[in-house]
Amino acid sequence: MGEDNEFSITWNEVPKIFLPEGKSSFKNEKCSICEASLEENMFLVEKAFWQDSLIFKHELIFEYFICADCAQNFNEQVSEESKLKLDAFRKKNFNSLYRQKLKDYNNHDIGKWLKYCEITKEKISTVEEYNIVGQFIGDIMLYDELPMAISIDGLMQIEKLYSNKTRDIIDDFMNSLPPDVRAKIKDKGRIFF
Ligand SMILES: [Zn+2]
Repeated sequence: MGEDNEFSITWNEVPKIFLPEGKSSFKNEKCSICEASLEENMFLVEKAFWQDSLIFKHELIFEYFICADCAQNFNEQVSEESKLKLDAFRKKNFNSLYRQKLKDYNNHDIGKWLKYCEITKEKISTVEEYNIVGQFIGDIMLYDELPMAISIDGLMQIEKLYSNKTRDIIDDFMNSLPPDVRAKIKDKGRIFF
């Protein structure tokens, strides 16, 4: 896959860590909210992992897929107050210089993109729990604002920014996910999206 100069977004095949559990492509997968086909659509993937590096254990907590329409729907509902807070937080805390360097060099080494927590800058290999988020079209990954990794501590910092209204919207969003995914998020894990 080549780069797309017009939009300065680069493309590549899906790194294994983003693929649906036990599958080799997104073929036949559906949006976890509206069940629209993901084929030839833009969509987001979020996954949460638990790991214990001492005993070399690395397990998926949950994964879900969101089509562009559902993602937009969600974004439109988020309160202005939360959006402003998130923007300010992103400018202050996100590791954008590192990300820009990877983009400048067209680096598609997923290990580098997901090496550090975007917020706390912890090495992801050293944290017990973390989430990854990526953006795709079919079986192609976009390297731009995403992919990124966020540790559990980073996720908790973001949660603190949300207004009550945004918290309710996130709850509604979680309630529209399939029951098995929802149970895993509630039991262990948090969502970034
Ligand atoms: Zn959808």
